Amino acid sequence: MPRIILLGAPGSGKGTQAVKLVEKLGIPQISTGDMLREARKNGTEMGKLASTYMDGGSLVPDEVVIGIVKERLGMKDLEKGFILDGFPRTIPQAMALDKVLEDLNIKLDHVVEIDVPFSMIVPRITGRRSCPECKRPFHISFLKPTVENHCDDCKVELIQRSDDTEEAVTQRLEAYQKQTKPLVEYYSEQKILRRVDGDGELEEVFSKIINILS
Ligand code: ADP
Ligand code: ZN
Repeated sequence: MPRIILLGAPGSGKGTQAVKLVEKLGIPQISTGDMLREARKNGTEMGKLASTYMDGGSLVPDEVVIGIVKERLGMKDLEKGFILDGFPRTIPQAMALDKVLEDLNIKLDHVVEIDVPFSMIVPRITGRRSCPECKRPFHISFLKPTVENHCDDCKVELIQRSDDTEEAVTQRLEAYQKQTKPLVEYYSEQKILRRVDGDGELEEVFSKIINILS
């Protein structure tokens, strides 16, 4: 029953690894980025508010993301575990999560930090594409679809995220460094932090993560 947090800079590959973990372990992925993009697509008030932050590469306010995660963690499909991808991203979010889990009487098993040098991140992110239907991630050089610019599964045209531009990436990296990196220390103190070198082949990084979990 693994309950996992994937921690890492934008472009570290945590979303890609999360999808692979879902396939292998059969537990749900909880991605705040995906949930916020879904809210934006549906044109909700929260979605509109969130996109003003997201498009510039800033973090969405804590109370907004904490609210959606709380709601998600209250659902019934999490008995076998879950993979938190992109949450928490700040110390107040981590503290709120601890509180929610305590109320649910469950504990985190592992926080996996995928560590990637900043110099690798910009090309990774600007070449990133994804399927608008199944969300499967691709990359124009590192993870090519079989048919150029189309999802292998859904056959629909891939899209690029509005915050995957060079300017937004710089802002996102700064937010990561200032607001998210302190979580490494936070979870080290709780003795559940595990570091994985993310500078390698996808499959290689994946088997390192699987090793940690077993
Ligand atoms: P990445 O990790 O590649 O930046 P995500 O899809 O996880 O991509 O997040 C995209 C954007 O959504 C972030 O830049 C931020 O604006 C917002 N977001 C996602 N998760 C959070 C969070 N936990 N707290 C605040 N903002 C978030
Ligand atoms: Zn697809």
